[in-house]
Amino acid sequence: MHESGRQSHLTEKVIRLENGGMNVDFIHTSEGLLRIGAMPDVSKMAARFDLDDSLVAVPAWEVSQAGDNYTGEEFVFWRAQVYGHEGRKYIGSPDCVNQLKSKLDAVFPYFFDDERIHIVRKAWLDNWFLARPVETLYHNRDLKVEFTGDNITVSDNGEPVYNRLDLAPSLLPDDAVENRLAAVSPDPVARENLTITAIGSGNGFSGKSASILARFGKRAVWIDPCAFPAHSLADTNVHWDDITDILITHNHEDHMSGFSACLCRCERQKRRLRLITGKNIFRILKQQFSPLFPDMDQLVEFRELKPGTPLQIGGITVDARWNHHFLPFGTLGLRISAGGKTCGISGDTKFSTAINAVVGRPELDPAWFADCDLILHEVDFVSADGVHSYWEEVAKIRDTVSGTLYGYHSPEVESPPLPQVRDGQTFTL
Ligand SMILES: [Zn+2]
Ligand SMILES: [Zn+2]
Repeated sequence: MHESGRQSHLTEKVIRLENGGMNVDFIHTSEGLLRIGAMPDVSKMAARFDLDDSLVAVPAWEVSQAGDNYTGEEFVFWRAQVYGHEGRKYIGSPDCVNQLKSKLDAVFPYFFDDERIHIVRKAWLDNWFLARPVETLYHNRDLKVEFTGDNITVSDNGEPVYNRLDLAPSLLPDDAVENRLAAVSPDPVARENLTITAIGSGNGFSGKSASILARFGKRAVWIDPCAFPAHSLADTNVHWDDITDILITHNHEDHMSGFSACLCRCERQKRRLRLITGKNIFRILKQQFSPLFPDMDQLVEFRELKPGTPLQIGGITVDARWNHHFLPFGTLGLRISAGGKTCGISGDTKFSTAINAVVGRPELDPAWFADCDLILHEVDFVSADGVHSYWEEVAKIRDTVSGTLYGYHSPEVESPPLPQVRDGQTFTL
């Protein structure tokens, strides 16, 4: 699997993770590892380089065409929830700490009950988010973290160890994006066949998050924009500006890490972002990102996707269902049709014949995919009891329908028992 991003040592005490034009610094202090802000997929990189922070300095919320510096935090929490952690102190101005907390609070507390039937709201955000708002100075024993204007400075044992502005990277995120785009050619050729490309096939813990491009005619619908859009699309030789529409299946961060970057690019290009999603999903996106984009209604040309009411996007028909997932705002499963072919994309959903027997919703049955030539289904190769679809259950769908089925939204597995979508793989239907 291709792992993007790199680590560098800026000083003896300061480590920088860089990815897609953004960076996050980690500072060794007497109170443990201090992280400065976030970036999309930061938890994957931190795990890869074995950086386990116990303190987080929360800067002002900033966005560029590479992404924003609060997105990424949700999966720090999911990782803490799954693998355990003692909890992190979040230090910053009351406004910044509160903005970050509200963004997380809109989504992170929802989960399934133990039977995986109903959605429940947990109190677990407080286990991991130890808010430490300060006016300007955090001071605990030998450690001082000071917030002044745009800057964050750190001193420990009386020694200055970090100055955010002094260590600012020379290349601005927007310039890194333009550099990456310059290496890819736009491809405006109208597609005569429905083509489906996996920009990413992993999940929030591993690989590039599940992110799929559907092209037909002049339309290119990017389903669940993943982190660092310019770079991630370019890795599959797709120019970001070829994308005509964004579709978001639900509000979990691994399905919308690239959303703020996409909005930012549209804002700079003075055009509206065409966004296809559910009404409540859009409402939560607006709520979560309102401090960054207070006028999102002006920035977005919203098209509501409602199960039972297929949408026409150029020559593409998008048909949806509500999945069995754990957000109360809904999670969309999709059937994308064009040129006489159909691709089913499960979206996040726990498919289980036993659960379906209790839930009793026919759209969750394998027959929903009966007319699909290709089916991409989320899969969990390891756990039967988790919140995702165990592969033995997904195999039942494969054995019931005539289309070809591939698993996605999973770490890459060697010799998987079901064929697995690979990053960059294209299907021409
Ligand atoms: Zn999800
Ligand atoms: Zn997911």
